[in-house]
Formats: sequence, structure tokens, C-alpha cells
Amino acid sequence: MLVQEYCTNTVEATVVMKISSKVVSLKKRVPLTISRGTSAGSDNLIVEIECESVCGIGEMAPVNIGGGEEDAAVAAFQVDSIREDLFAVQPWEMDKIQDVLCGHTVSASTAAAIDFAAYDWLGKRAGMPVYQLLGADISNIVDSSLTIGICSPEEARNRALETIARLQPHSLKVKLGSPSGTDADKAMLSAIVEAIPSNILIRVDANGGWDVNGSKMMMEWLAQKGVEYIEQPLPLGQEEDLPFLFKDAPLPIFADESCRNSADIPKLADRVHGINLKLMKSGGIREGLKLIHTARAHGLKVMMGCMSESSLAIAGSVHISAFADYLDLDSHLNLLPDPAKGLFWKDGRVLPGSGTGLGIEFEFDSH
Ligand SMILES: [Mg+2]
Repeated sequence: MLVQEYCTNTVEATVVMKISSKVVSLKKRVPLTISRGTSAGSDNLIVEIECESVCGIGEMAPVNIGGGEEDAAVAAFQVDSIREDLFAVQPWEMDKIQDVLCGHTVSASTAAAIDFAAYDWLGKRAGMPVYQLLGADISNIVDSSLTIGICSPEEARNRALETIARLQPHSLKVKLGSPSGTDADKAMLSAIVEAIPSNILIRVDANGGWDVNGSKMMMEWLAQKGVEYIEQPLPLGQEEDLPFLFKDAPLPIFADESCRNSADIPKLADRVHGINLKLMKSGGIREGLKLIHTARAHGLKVMMGCMSESSLAIAGSVHISAFADYLDLDSHLNLLPDPAKGLFWKDGRVLPGSGTGLGIEFEFDSH
């Protein structure tokens, strides 16, 4: 029996893992404007791995938060560069995959697509959804906010009302940090607050659009408006000024652009209340879980956010979202069309389906 098992393992060791990729163009239902610019869509990279006749799929979305852009063309080149090194690795061998990625300086968003594909493969191979593999209780998944980008007060009011009518969210995330200044921010937020039902919560993301004095003033004002928390008030690189905001802060501060992976957390732990985990920044589920545990060990809250992602990459986040305190996993709901199917929007929450792996079907010809 032992000899037979040994022989079986020897045969499996010769199994080849194939990896391929394809660029897809996604179009937003409503262009999204933040403090740094406007996006009407994105080119994302879909990565597929195949091993033992089981396919796993993942998605890379562009990351542009400073410190080097990551786009789909670069990601496709990176996937090509590691193809031969992955032949001898199986999808469950994530330590070895990580070694290959590090050896080729693969970007975090490309790594995320490969990580999603590996987890999707693992779940399909095991016959379980990824959240079950990880032991997550999906009844703990909280509401996800829907995002309103920077625009005029009248547009903001209309977009908020249209979003509420279409999807009945329990919370909105409002982008501020307008290039037109904090008076424009106040006018936009006031227009939304006055228009929407009072039971819908509002959180604000400045995307680093304010200076220290502007942040202090706006945080006091936002707290009076009943805003839940403020995300990234100061620009990336200005973390040494966060203690001025953190001391006697009238509402919690979350770091987004300032926190890419678990190594960033100890440096931020004495100056923010929480971090925004985005798997495109961290490199996927595996590093994302490390980030969650590191944040918890430092007493920080965890929110999960997204880049411009279809339901495929969002699913990577949704399967671990039961471990987070706040969620902003909404980019797929602003796509026209979303080429990936398999997630559910129910009573203000984004929920996984019961399919194995990430539970997503990707339709390459739907757009
Ligand atoms: Mg943000």
C-alpha cells in the first residue's frame, strides 16, 4: 500500500501546470472621478491556470496609487515570463508559486490574479467554495457601501438617489478631496446628506486630496454630519503627519494608499484606526489574510475595498470578507456589462454563490 501511494505521488509530480492570460476591456456604467482623476473603464487581465484537467481563473485590475503603475499589458508580459517556471509547480503549492513570483519581480496585481486562479483551482479540485476551504462564516459578511464619485452637488444628489433606487444599499461611500477645494467637498456631501434617507450611512474617502489643516477642518465637519469614518485624508508619503489628525480625531481614520501589505501595518498602527485591504495591492488572498491577522494583532479595524474589478476579482475578496469589519466591494456593480457572473447582491451585501472555487463564470464575449 505504501509502495502504491509512493508511486502515485511520483506520477503526480510530473503533472504540468499551464498558465495563460487574456486582456479584457471593462466599461463603467458611470465614470468614477476621485481626487487624482476620472476613469471610464479599464483593461484587466484574466489569468487561467490548468492542471489535472481542472481550470482556475483569476483577474488583475490596474493599480495606480503612486509608486509605479500596474497595467494589463505589463501583467500579461509578467505572466508570460513565469510560464516555464510554473510547469513543475502545482496550483496548491503556493509557497513555490510565491518563490517564482518573487524571482521575477511580478507586481502585486499580477500576483493577485495568479493567487485567485490558484484558490479557484484549489476549491474546484476539493469540491468546495473558497470560503469553506478557509473556514469563513459568510453569515458574518457585513453591508457593502456603494461609491459616489466626485461631481457637482446636483449630480451627486441624483446619482445617490439613482443608486439607492437601483440597489437599495445600506451605506454609501462618497469620494471627496475635490481639486476644486473643500468648499466643493462640503457642497457635494451636503447635497447627498439632504437628499437620502437618514438610515443610510455615509463614509468618506478623500484619496489623499487634503493637507493637514484641510483634513482637520473637514474631519470635524464630517463628524458633525454623522459620517462613519474618513479614508486616506493625506497623500501617500505623508504618513508622518497622520499623528496630528489621529490625536483627538473626531472620527476614525483608515489608511488606503498608505497601506499595501502586512509590512506597512506596524508603521501605521499608532496613527490610524484601521486599514483598507485591497487584494490588488496586497497580491491576493494569501497576503490579504496575513494583512488581516497583522492588523488585528495591532488592534486595527479592517475594511476591504477594490479597484476597477469585475465580479471575478471581487469574488476573491468576497470569499474572505467575513473576516473584515467594513466592506466597499462594489466596482462590479458599476460595470456595463459585468462579464463575470456568480456573486449575489442581497439586502445591501455582496455574497458568494455555492459554486466550487470562487464560483464565477467568466463570459469573454459578453462585451
Ligand atoms: Mg480609498
